[in-house]
Amino acid sequence: MKIICIGRNYIEHAHELNNPVPAQPVFFMKPESAIIRAGLPFFYPDFSNDIHYEVELVLRISKVGKNINEKFANTYFDAIGIGIDFTARDLQKTCKEKGLPWEIAKAFDGSAPTSDFIPKQAFKDIYDINFSLVKNEETVQQGNSGMMIFNFEKIISYVSRFVTLKRGDLIFTGTPAGVGPVQIGDELKAMLVKKNMITLSIK
Ligand code: MG
Repeated sequence: MKIICIGRNYIEHAHELNNPVPAQPVFFMKPESAIIRAGLPFFYPDFSNDIHYEVELVLRISKVGKNINEKFANTYFDAIGIGIDFTARDLQKTCKEKGLPWEIAKAFDGSAPTSDFIPKQAFKDIYDINFSLVKNEETVQQGNSGMMIFNFEKIISYVSRFVTLKRGDLIFTGTPAGVGPVQIGDELKAMLVKKNMITLSIK
């Protein structure tokens, strides 16, 4: 199982990090060890002093596919959840400046807490899903799937040109504006259509 993450998929988030708005999706990957199981905390790693939260909608891939046509891409995922793409922003900044890969900043253990999944048929309209992140009882990020630069189908089609998608793979679909740091002692809640799907302590 693999985790694919889309970067810069919301215009205001691209702007807040001074990144150009991409003409094609940008993606990177995290390993399975990035997942945090429900109920377990996130342990602040010793290699960073600037861990940021990024709340994202997550697709669960339901069948194998390669070079998937955008027209049929919606048949390749069966459920939607929510996750946090933890990022060591200090390490990422150094990687960007030196033109190095992002793995140390993005793919570390615990960097992808992920909720349970909701069958996509349970959503009224998957192109109009509200989600948000609450830090210490304050809403810090709000997004809607309709605000994505590249929609679910475009993402699946594009990624599958390069990487075969398999049942159980997850795709983090990018974060809206409002990313920011966490500190030890913080509590994060990830909300999907007003339902609290993840409660996570930072330790
Ligand atoms: Mg992200």
